[in-house]
Amino acid sequence: MTISVSPQALPALVLNADYRPLSYYPLSLWSWQDAIKAVFLDRVNIIAEYDHSVSSPSFTMRLPSVVCLKTYVQPSRHPAFTRFNVFLRDKFECQYCGSPDDLTFDHVIPRAHGGETTWCNVVAACSPCNLRKGSKLPKQAGMHPHQKPYHPTVQDLHNNGRLFPPNYLHESWMDYLYWDVELQP
Ligand SMILES: [Zn+2]
Repeated sequence: MTISVSPQALPALVLNADYRPLSYYPLSLWSWQDAIKAVFLDRVNIIAEYDHSVSSPSFTMRLPSVVCLKTYVQPSRHPAFTRFNVFLRDKFECQYCGSPDDLTFDHVIPRAHGGETTWCNVVAACSPCNLRKGSKLPKQAGMHPHQKPYHPTVQDLHNNGRLFPPNYLHESWMDYLYWDVELQP
């Protein structure tokens, strides 16, 4: 799974005040318009620039390719329990067969058996596996998740997010990212 980032959009990579990306997945990117607005509002420092510039009658400015917040934003320690974050914890793979397609939310202990909708009872499952399991207990269905569901930390999700680099990364971003990928021409 990749995120489409159009190089033509000349997005700016947004770093926290500690020079780490605000988020890895999705990668924190702002449109050039938002990046310039933040520069004028004095909220960010420009760390790197594109060759392209924009001009108005009163100024010319090169578009920022990397900006850094002036004020540190404390990342939340406990990630929100959302569909996206459950899939990210499970690396976008069905926990029963490994398929990346057609993912759904599966209650390991079905709701009909009192299973709760929590980190520790919900996994990513493809829709055929989810249907096959139905409202049976794992033992009855003979289906056990590959990984016991757990409450991830933000760091866990960051680590998993790095497995999914966007399909476009500007060279000026590389010093701030951990992806070891070939640069596109
Ligand atoms: Zn499956």
